[in-house]
Amino acid sequence: MRNHDVIVLGGGISGVCAALHLQARGMRVLLVDRAAPGDEASRANAGILARDGFSPVDWPVTAGEILSRVMRPAGRIRLDLRSLPAALPFLRAAHMAVQTGAAARTGRAIAPLQAIAAGEHLALARAASALRFFRRTGWIKIYRRQASYEASEQDRHFARIFGVPYTDLSAADLVRLEPHLVSFDHAGLYWPDTQSVSSPGGVTKAYARLFRERGGETEMGKAETLVATRDGWSVRTTRGEAEGRRAVIALGAGAPGVLARLGVELPVATMRGYHRHFRAVSGVTLSRPITDIDNGYTLTPMERGLRLVGGHELTRVDRPVRETALLRAGAAARALMPIGAQVEEVPIPGVRLCMPDGLPVMGQVPALPGLWLALGNERSSFGLGAAMGRLLAETMTGARPFADPAPYSPVRFISD
Ligand SMILES: Cc1cc2nc3c(=O)[nH]c(=O)nc-3n(C[C@H](O)[C@H](O)[C@H](O)COP(=O)(O)OP(=O)(O)OC[C@H]3O[C@@H](n4cnc5c(N)ncnc54)[C@H](O)[C@@H]3O)c2cc1C
Repeated sequence: MRNHDVIVLGGGISGVCAALHLQARGMRVLLVDRAAPGDEASRANAGILARDGFSPVDWPVTAGEILSRVMRPAGRIRLDLRSLPAALPFLRAAHMAVQTGAAARTGRAIAPLQAIAAGEHLALARAASALRFFRRTGWIKIYRRQASYEASEQDRHFARIFGVPYTDLSAADLVRLEPHLVSFDHAGLYWPDTQSVSSPGGVTKAYARLFRERGGETEMGKAETLVATRDGWSVRTTRGEAEGRRAVIALGAGAPGVLARLGVELPVATMRGYHRHFRAVSGVTLSRPITDIDNGYTLTPMERGLRLVGGHELTRVDRPVRETALLRAGAAARALMPIGAQVEEVPIPGVRLCMPDGLPVMGQVPALPGLWLALGNERSSFGLGAAMGRLLAETMTGARPFADPAPYSPVRFISD
C-alpha cells in the first residue's frame, strides 16, 4: 500500500489545479484518472475565462417551457426527451434556487473567483511554460433579439457592481474589432477583460506536466474503486492499491456515478456540447471568441483552426451523441464570417456538470470524513479552475482562504 496525503481523482482542469495547489502547500499528492489528463470537458470547451457569467442559466421551469426546449430549442439548450425523467430533480432544484434568490447569491459568490481567475491561470501557465496559449483580446457577444439583450442586464448589473468593464457595440464597432465579420445590425456587448486560450486541453496537459515535474505522481485507475479505509481512502490503480488520508473527487461528469456508489446524491445534471474546427479562409482572421447568443454558438480561434462550439443539450451521459448537433450553428456561423472547410468529420462531444445554482461545488462531504469535492460548474469552470484549486487547497490545509468558501460547499445540497 502506497501512502499519500491526498488522492485527487480526475485529471481535468479542476483536479490538476487542485493537485498543484495542494502540492505547493507541502502535500504528497497522487493524481488518478482513467485516461490521460485533460482529455474530457477541459479539452472540449470554448476556452473562455469569462468576466461576466454572474447569473445562473435560466433553466426551463413550466411544462410548456420544458416541451419547447425538447421540440424546438432554436439556439437554446436542448432537453433530450429520454433524459428528462433523470433531469427532473435537477430542474426542480434549479427552480427552487431561483425562487430563493440564487440570481443574487450566484452573482456575489462568483465575483471573487472571477476576479482572480485569470491571474491564477497566468501564474500556473508561467511556471508550466504555457503562456503562449493565453490571449487578452476580450469577448464579443451578439444579440439578434432585443429580449436576449435585455436578459443580459443581470450580468451587466453585477459587472457594474464589481467594476468589470464592458461596452455596448454598434455594428460599426463590431466590424472595427473584427474586420472580417459580415456587417449586421444587432446589439452587441464587448467584455475587454475576458481572456481566452487557444488550446484548453494544451493548458490542462501543461499543468499536469508541471505537477509531475514538481514531484507529483500521476497514475491510471478507476474512481469506482475508491473505498473508505480506517485511516482515509484507498483506490486501485494500474500500480496497485494507493491510500490517501484524504481524497478529492474532481471527476466532472463522471462524479455523480462514483458519488452514488458512496451513497451521495447531488441534484446535478449533465450537459453535452459539441465542437468542430474549420480552416481559415486565406486572409480572413478572428482575434477573439464571439458568441452568437440567439443562435447558441461560439466561434473562437484555436490552434487547430476556428472552433465552433454549440449544440448544447441536457442529456444523460449514456445517450448517443448527435452528429447533426452543430449543423444549424455551422450555417449561422458561415453567415457571420467566411470560414473554410471543416477539419473533423464528426463533431467532438464534451460533457460538463450543471449545478442548480450555477456555482461550482467545493468542500468536504458531510458524513464522509476526508472526502472532498472539486466539481466545476456548467459554463465557466475551465476559467475558474486555477482559482478553485487554490481555494480548495487553502481550505483543506487550514490556510486563510482568499474568499469565503461557504457558497460553494456541498452542504447546500447534502445534509449530515
Ligand atoms: C462545449 C463546452 C464549452 C465550454 N466552454 C467553456 C468556456 O468557454 N469557459 C469555461 O470556463 N468553461 C467552459 N466549459 C466548462 C468547462 O469545460 C468545465 O466546467 C471544466 O472543464 C470542468 O473541468 P473538470 O476538471 O471538472 O472536468 P473534466 O475536464 O471533465 O475532467 C474530469 C476528469 O475525470 C476523469 N474521470 C471521470 N470519471 C472517472 C472515473 N470513473 N475514474 C477515473 N477518472 C474519471 C476524466 O477522464 C477527466 O479527465 C465548457 C464545457 C463544454 C462541454
